Amino acid sequence: MPHDPSDTAATESSSTTRRRVLGKIGTGLAATFASPALALQGGAVTPGTGIRQPAQSIKRDPTTQYPRPPFPKQSQPWPGLTSHMTPRPDHGETSYQGSGRLTGRKALITGGDSGIGRAVAIAYAREGADVAINYLPAEESDAQEVIALIRAAGRKALAIPGDIRSEAFCQQLVARAVQGLGGLDILVSNAARQHQVPSILDLTTELFDWTLKTNLYAMFWITKAAVPHFQPGACIIVTASEQAYDPSPNLLDYAQTKAAQVAFTKLLSKQLIPRGIRVNAVAPGPIWTPLQPSGGQDPAKLPQFGADTPIGRAGQPAELAAAYVTLASQESSYATGQVYGVNGGHAQP
Ligand code: NAD
Ligand code: MG
Repeated sequence: MPHDPSDTAATESSSTTRRRVLGKIGTGLAATFASPALALQGGAVTPGTGIRQPAQSIKRDPTTQYPRPPFPKQSQPWPGLTSHMTPRPDHGETSYQGSGRLTGRKALITGGDSGIGRAVAIAYAREGADVAINYLPAEESDAQEVIALIRAAGRKALAIPGDIRSEAFCQQLVARAVQGLGGLDILVSNAARQHQVPSILDLTTELFDWTLKTNLYAMFWITKAAVPHFQPGACIIVTASEQAYDPSPNLLDYAQTKAAQVAFTKLLSKQLIPRGIRVNAVAPGPIWTPLQPSGGQDPAKLPQFGADTPIGRAGQPAELAAAYVTLASQESSYATGQVYGVNGGHAQP
């Protein structure tokens, strides 16, 4: 549903709205992650500045900051919903505080309904950006939670559902985002399909094609449609994966797309920097998102998800947000063609 400036949500003060939205969305989250350090008020005020330390930057032991395996056994149908996950992932709903690093920017995030894309949408909105999200129609309930959070931050929110395996839809998606936001400065190419298949002998052409269409063709189509709208200072951020560097044996199609996304990022950065456009990627390790219990992982192995990382646990989407904010911010003006690893200690990229 497009943002209507006459919405009461848009005219309420952002702090009132944020409290109301978090009251609804954060109930399950608060039960899982209840901690004074994650409260919205943040940390101590820096003497002489009046500036309160953002909640997400309070010093903590990262090894125990979030749940460690085992996770409860669970599976759900693709594409998966946040509300059906136990524990519910943390996207920074109650912790992320912005400081104006993306003021006035206009961002399109694919897969912005859940997981990493949701954490990025929350952080971008709280940093001052207007945000459009794309997702599948089956994910409408997840998407509406994100839309409410973006509006609670006082920013414009656009919900654009549709299947990015269609080139025509990818073109419409960009056109609707540009029209609805009044331009485009940041593209986060984040949507993906991951389904584990242990043997090449069982990986059908249909499944292979599904993964390549979602992860590569759509990224190409959406980027191609977006570039003509970019002004100098715009940027693209691709969600790649550590699978580009150390692929798991059951992700033959997916890992190839992630390696290709790294090449896409490095090459396109060279093409676009003369136009003042930066292109970077983030390469996450194992992150607790709906992609995993909805076919991305072997359900028998899901309880130990993330246990083999040096940090000893899966990451939460909230732990990725800072990388996307940093790469999008003008503070990173000399960074292009880079891959930012956030993976709990695997020495990549
Ligand atoms: P997620 O399930 O929350 O997000 C993936 C999103 O992709 C979905 O929400 C869905 O909206 C979108 N999507 C899939 N197929 C689509 C289609 N045909 N049309 C439109 N949208 C479609 O999971 P996530 O883990 O947050 O995934 C986000 C990105 O992170 C992906 O690129 C994924 O490859 C990458 N990644 C995830 C992990 C992990 O462990 N979760 C690790 C490395 C990289
Ligand atoms: Mg989703």
